[in-house]
Amino acid sequence: MGLFGGRKTVFVDADILVIGGGMAGCGATYESRYWGRDLRIVCVEKANIERSGAVAQGLYAINCYMGMQWGENQPEDHVRYARNDLMGLVREDLGYDIARHVDGTVHMLEEWGLPIMRDPKTGRYQREGKWQIMIHGESYKPIVAEAARKAATEVCNRIMVTHLLMDQSKPNRVGGAVGFNVRTGDFHVFRAKAVIVAAGGASHIFKPRAVGEGMGRTWYAPWSSASAYALPIEVGAKMTQMENRIVLTRFKDGYGPVGAYFLHLKTYTQNGYGEEYEKRWYDDTKALVGEYVDRHPVPTCLRNHALLKEVAAGRGPIRMVTKEAFQDPHKEVVGWENFLGMTIGQAVVWASQNIDPKEVNPELTTSEPYVMGSHATCSGAWASGPEDYAPVEYQWGYNRMMTVDGLFGAGDTIGGTAHKFSSGSFTEGRIAGKAAVKYVLEKGKEQPRVSEQEYRDLEKLIYQPLENYRIGRNEIVAGTVSPSYLLPIHGLQRLEKIMDEYVGGISTNYMTNGVLLNRGLELLAMLKEDMSRMGAEDLHQLQRTWELHHRLLASESVTHHTLFRKETRWPGYYYRGDHMKLDDENWHCFTLSRYDRKSGKWAMEKAPVYHIVD
Ligand SMILES: Cc1cc2nc3c(=O)[nH]c(=O)nc-3n(C[C@H](O)[C@H](O)[C@H](O)COP(=O)(O)OP(=O)(O)OC[C@H]3O[C@@H](n4cnc5c(N)ncnc54)[C@H](O)[C@@H]3O)c2cc1C
Repeated sequence: MGLFGGRKTVFVDADILVIGGGMAGCGATYESRYWGRDLRIVCVEKANIERSGAVAQGLYAINCYMGMQWGENQPEDHVRYARNDLMGLVREDLGYDIARHVDGTVHMLEEWGLPIMRDPKTGRYQREGKWQIMIHGESYKPIVAEAARKAATEVCNRIMVTHLLMDQSKPNRVGGAVGFNVRTGDFHVFRAKAVIVAAGGASHIFKPRAVGEGMGRTWYAPWSSASAYALPIEVGAKMTQMENRIVLTRFKDGYGPVGAYFLHLKTYTQNGYGEEYEKRWYDDTKALVGEYVDRHPVPTCLRNHALLKEVAAGRGPIRMVTKEAFQDPHKEVVGWENFLGMTIGQAVVWASQNIDPKEVNPELTTSEPYVMGSHATCSGAWASGPEDYAPVEYQWGYNRMMTVDGLFGAGDTIGGTAHKFSSGSFTEGRIAGKAAVKYVLEKGKEQPRVSEQEYRDLEKLIYQPLENYRIGRNEIVAGTVSPSYLLPIHGLQRLEKIMDEYVGGISTNYMTNGVLLNRGLELLAMLKEDMSRMGAEDLHQLQRTWELHHRLLASESVTHHTLFRKETRWPGYYYRGDHMKLDDENWHCFTLSRYDRKSGKWAMEKAPVYHIVD
């Protein structure tokens, strides 16, 4: 049987195609059905929506809830909070749009069966912090998935989308997507009038702290492989803030979350000698970022900065003081449950390292950088804003439509909107779904057509690594290193090493500069050249190959953005050694990039930041 013999091509026609069935994808699928009763809504997911995405394992808190029914916060407050945390640079129109709708989403999730904890005295949702409410969230994802399943015309699980398809007559209009079934190998061609990308963020583009057999133990899910960025980048969608990679301070080795510990259990940190250290770095930080250090709460990146400086000064490790709080049996239970509901691995690490937080203050460390759009970071696609709120310059069509016609996004995909988290991502999915329905209905009969030539060419490209392996394997009798192909794991490690050493990863203490970034780009280009030599032993490795393609393109984008922004806006996330200070005069702006796949060139530009909320 030849390379393509026996492999089926499955055609799926949709009015709206949702790529990725995580939080945002489920929200988009659900809402598209609400507004588009008679439309064909298809959700395609590379895993199974029942347990896919960053929320797969469950969560212990919903991190974005205003509490407007009790007058706790207003949407404007959330915009101020996110703006402050991101050192002044957020898309306030998009953030406001999510904040004004997010409470409705949370109430709906509760109706669907998500148990939300209540304060026994007030009857309100139990707050963990100003924005967070506590949930019994082990089944958060299945609950959300059920709503999407019931709403969708079809959910196509186990299909990895590798490329978007374009309309053959309108060069900047999307027409669908292609991918392959990771179990059967069937080739899937999706023809759609509108596409919503909701494929999560990117882990494993920087070398993780845990390598070798432990490399899957990262904070961010290893299956978040940058498709959310690579798919739109490839077809020329503009991206924003891709330099704003996130670094997390977490419990060492298990990446257990610290939010509930700081906010609910009121634990605090100290250095290896039991001293408070954040204040010690106040003057140093002020010299870098000016009055941003006086903001309340102190921006996430600046807290990382103090930790990094203290460790570099030789006074590590940094520890979370749990011994006091854990004397209270209620707090002890909450502390453990916090992990059991969402990061069981941290509890296992503590057990295996003889750490009882009642007796020992556990270590904290900073993670390798990740690219995301929904956490304390806002990388992603440049999207059109809400008609009633966005400044004219941020509007060119439908809400959450990228700069490619008919291509929408939500969740980690969309840039400029930090702190949306699970509830905000679902909400943004709903917003994108509603807008996509409007787009489809208003376009009427004016439908995109995809060219057979385009998807047949892509089919060849997608499966080529299987052929490379089949032929190249004959050249060796044992081992994995072949003169004619590169395995996905080798490519991944090469990528991670380049990003780590040149673009500001853990091994350089997040430091980079123009010289390093330019060299990083040269090395990324060489890796790109070698990608046509990838060898995939089976379908699983084929998936790994395409995930690597996506990670590589996103990495290029991160590197170009980091090079373009000639300042250190977020010390603690990364440092430009040649521009160590924040420079509001020249860089109080968004960075935008556009990739041209024909020339392989990136065009960079600045876009204004509008402060809509006072
Ligand atoms: C470690 C961690 C802890 C967090 N803790 C909290 C918390 O406590 N509270 C809170 O509210 N939020 C939390 N968040 C944030 C929340 O998980 C995210 O905001 C949310 O999941 C983002 O939604 P999304 O749909 O963009 O991405 P995801 O939910 O990750 O979904 C992306 C989906 O796309 C699929 N996909 C990817 N590539 C492809 C492809 N090529 N083809 C097809 N499908 C694809 C993936 O399999 C996945 O199902 C946390 C996030 C992380 C990473």
